[in-house]
Amino acid sequence: MDFSVPRDFLENAQDAYDVVVIGSGLAGLTAANILGRAGHSVLLLEQHYKLGGLATWFKRPGGHIFDISLHGFPHGMIKSCRRYWNQTIADSIVPLERIRFDNPIFSLTTSYHREDFTRLLAERFAVPRPTIENFFDTARRMNFYDDQQLTTGELFERFFPGRQDIIRLLMEPIVYANGSTLEDPALSYGIVFSNFMSKGVFTFQGGTDQLIQMMHAELVRNRVDVRIRCDVEQVAVERDRVTAVTVNGRTIRTRCVISNANLQSTIFRLVGAQYFDRQFLEEARQVRINNSSTQVFMALKPGEHIEESTGDLLFSSTASEFATELLLSREITSRTYSFYYPRTRPAGRDRYLVVSSTNAKYEDWAGLPPAEYERSKQDLIETTLNAAEKYLPDLRHRVDHIEAATPLTFEHYTRHVAGSSFGTKFEGLAVSRGLPQQIKGLYHAGSVGIIMSGWLGAINYGVIVANDVDACLMPMTSPSSAGAG
Ligand SMILES: Cc1cc2nc3c(=O)[nH]c(=O)nc-3n(C[C@H](O)[C@H](O)[C@H](O)COP(=O)(O)OP(=O)(O)OC[C@H]3O[C@@H](n4cnc5c(N)ncnc54)[C@H](O)[C@@H]3O)c2cc1C
Repeated sequence: MDFSVPRDFLENAQDAYDVVVIGSGLAGLTAANILGRAGHSVLLLEQHYKLGGLATWFKRPGGHIFDISLHGFPHGMIKSCRRYWNQTIADSIVPLERIRFDNPIFSLTTSYHREDFTRLLAERFAVPRPTIENFFDTARRMNFYDDQQLTTGELFERFFPGRQDIIRLLMEPIVYANGSTLEDPALSYGIVFSNFMSKGVFTFQGGTDQLIQMMHAELVRNRVDVRIRCDVEQVAVERDRVTAVTVNGRTIRTRCVISNANLQSTIFRLVGAQYFDRQFLEEARQVRINNSSTQVFMALKPGEHIEESTGDLLFSSTASEFATELLLSREITSRTYSFYYPRTRPAGRDRYLVVSSTNAKYEDWAGLPPAEYERSKQDLIETTLNAAEKYLPDLRHRVDHIEAATPLTFEHYTRHVAGSSFGTKFEGLAVSRGLPQQIKGLYHAGSVGIIMSGWLGAINYGVIVANDVDACLMPMTSPSSAGAG
């Protein structure tokens, strides 16, 4: 092989496509698949050497495969994957049976269903059943068009005044699942909580690597031109309309661009502020970025195992009260453990893994001198081992491989502003949806707001945007034709 000639990752790519999708996160992948399936010519460009964005994995010596964000999603993934991907992908989605909480106020295990939560709230937290039913019904009835003034904190206060313990039970998993806070609009809590409560928490059997491989195969079947190591530098705009993208030194013409890159990078870096009106830019600048995460990945030595009673997901905290600030602090008190059993990846030898995740602030990690950064990572590993040994005795002597990821790791791999785990806060949705009114043919699909993030939210947002693009490309046909599966 001649190493002096750089490989052309756009070899044989066409000069023009109906749609160019920038980024292969779940929203980008799904939008590309729907539009390819609808017969449009689609080019999917990913800057990383792997598809999936935050839905990703990595391999380490000893055959260990770690999932980054495969911890749990709602039942709705089955329907979305069946409709917008295929039956085989949908059939690999399985329930997680044991969700545990352990904190100074309570320790319990639940299936995270409405019936089980009703039982817990009534029996352990002494809430009258009509109040519980009323709370669940109120949360379930919430939708996008509702009043957004009521905050999640106010919603809890209305139903469970002064009950910190209940707030903790109801809020902790959702904070973890989408970075939301008590100050966010109640509907963002209500919709996500109700999604989980309908049937519990689910995962993808086979691991993220298998899911992304299956999605890639489906994209190829639908004639999407998929390219990795293609870092889009610019989206070209002429007379208020998207005309092309510049990538790896080439200009590729297109009628529509769907950016799955971070919303603010899309506006300010890929397109450029000069193409937007002043008020829109003002709104875009106001959009808050969601928090980031740290993770510690641990693989057990061959022959070591974890009892299934340890649970699938464990929300553990040593803090005596629930507070958003505490969940983000460098002085970690809350950790969410995901336990992966051989059933997660039934192929190959039995493997047990643990991933400990904690919400984190980018500022706490960015700018540290290299030696201090490494020391902080090592400290994160040590303190996590100490904390995890409460549940897995002698863990430090049983691990074969251990390493940590920080907000800088997420920033590095996905280019997300501040390594955000869930894109932007709720106000990002209006800005994302407003892009095509500013520039014809420019769309964004990816984690914005709270509902449009996480695995299911990102996929569903990809569907919504694919339908918009289909309508834009074929104004004479029904806008719903692309999404109907
Ligand atoms: C630690 C952690 C745990 C999580 N746990 C869960 C969980 O348990 N359940 C759940 O539902 N969700 C979870 N999530 C969130 C979930 O993974 C994300 O919300 C979702 O995967 C985001 O998808 P996305 O479509 O927004 O794109 P992203 O995954 O953000 O991908 C964007 C893609 O765009 C690419 N890109 C950016 N700029 C360019 C460019 N200029 N050119 C080409 N490509 C570009 C990036 O490389 C990336 O591949 C977790 C996230 C993290 C970080």
